[in-house]
Amino acid sequence: MQTSTKISFDNLEIAFSSKSDQQLKKQYLIFSAMNNNALVSFGTKFSNLALKLGLPVKGIIKSTVFSHFCGGENIQECEPTIKSLSEFGIGTILDYSVEGGEKEDGFDHTRDEIIATIHKASNNKAIPFSVFKITGLASTPLLAKVQAGKQLSQAETEAFERVKARVNAICKSAFDHGVRIFIDAEETWIQDTIDQMAYEMMFLYNKETAIVYNTYQMYRADMLGNLSEALQNAREKRYYLGAKLVRGAYMEKERARAKEMGYPSPIQPNKAASDRDFDAALKLAMDNKDVFYICCGSHNEKSTIYLAELMNEHGLKNDDARFFFAQLYGMSDNISYNLANAGYNVAKYVPYGPIKSVMPYLGRRAAENTSIAGQSSREFELVKREMARRKANK
Ligand SMILES: Cc1cc2nc3c(=O)[nH]c(=O)nc-3n(C[C@H](O)[C@H](O)[C@H](O)COP(=O)(O)OP(=O)(O)OC[C@H]3O[C@@H](n4cnc5c(N)ncnc54)[C@H](O)[C@@H]3O)c2cc1C
Repeated sequence: MQTSTKISFDNLEIAFSSKSDQQLKKQYLIFSAMNNNALVSFGTKFSNLALKLGLPVKGIIKSTVFSHFCGGENIQECEPTIKSLSEFGIGTILDYSVEGGEKEDGFDHTRDEIIATIHKASNNKAIPFSVFKITGLASTPLLAKVQAGKQLSQAETEAFERVKARVNAICKSAFDHGVRIFIDAEETWIQDTIDQMAYEMMFLYNKETAIVYNTYQMYRADMLGNLSEALQNAREKRYYLGAKLVRGAYMEKERARAKEMGYPSPIQPNKAASDRDFDAALKLAMDNKDVFYICCGSHNEKSTIYLAELMNEHGLKNDDARFFFAQLYGMSDNISYNLANAGYNVAKYVPYGPIKSVMPYLGRRAAENTSIAGQSSREFELVKREMARRKANK
């Protein structure tokens, strides 16, 4: 495998190589609809209501926005997506995207579903990681209460023991099957509880290689410090530090809560500070690559190029097992397909689950792709440019 050469994401022919003209046209129509802010706002509310009322909208959602951003309603339905991505050297990370449950049997069901994704990934090069969110396995108020150091009732203590047992069952299964697993990062008021569990799992299962990866949100002003501390702990306790680096998905919610409750916002003062710390985290990982295993979870071209350059400077092969890049399915194909074409380790989060359950996820993707100050979203621009390129070449 080659070592890094200068990577660029401008090659749209490679970026859209998996898409026929017809598929590209469909993508154009979906992004053109999402570009309309009023339509997204109305469509999101209408779809949620219609699904609640049992109106026949499932078919239309499934064949449009769902099929663009999700693999299917279950693992089986994701099969064509796994195959198609792998034909272009891109891995799939099956992301069971059911959010917001609060029942014990729902948490057990989620645990079993995540373990099913581990079985599916086992010995399958097309699925390099599994992933889960702790809030799929635990009540959020309980996680917050643990973090706040409040006294738990007997029932809550038992419920928290069951959460830890679910997390361990998943990570042990990952370890037994040799499948790497991400623990997603969530809101600051539950993240310490999540971190605690993640480090216990790393201590148990990361002795020979990184199986368990925690997630580090660099939009948090304290995160670079936390990452350095995690590195020091990993060195002292002699385990590999699996780290998925992201900027962070809950900025508005974090700022709003801090304001409402009257504490300083944990978020960086501006985007430049998030960008600076994200790149500093990549550098820290590279300088300590004897301990770190990294996944750069980002659609930011500059940071992606920066990691590729660091790999080059350090004389690493493009497919060095310690370094992975990941994007969300249906987003930034120009990054994923060009990285894969240059031989880097790259994968897509492929969310799946019943349509009704993934609606919050689809709502976030739609909101992200509306126009900002009259400008088309980045994704829509790329589709338009590729259509023009194909037309000119006919
Ligand atoms: C594979 C993958 C896994 C992910 N896993 C998680 C996860 O576990 N937990 C999670 O929270 N998110 C996760 N995300 C989402 C991620 O955190 C970002 O929201 C998203 O990827 C956008 O950031 P970016 O690096 O792609 O690019 P960019 O578009 O360059 O950055 C946008 C991000 O910058 C930050 N930002 C924007 N404006 C400001 C501002 N004014 N001040 C400070 N910061 C600002 C925000 O985090 C915003 O999302 C994941 C993303 C990917 C691709």
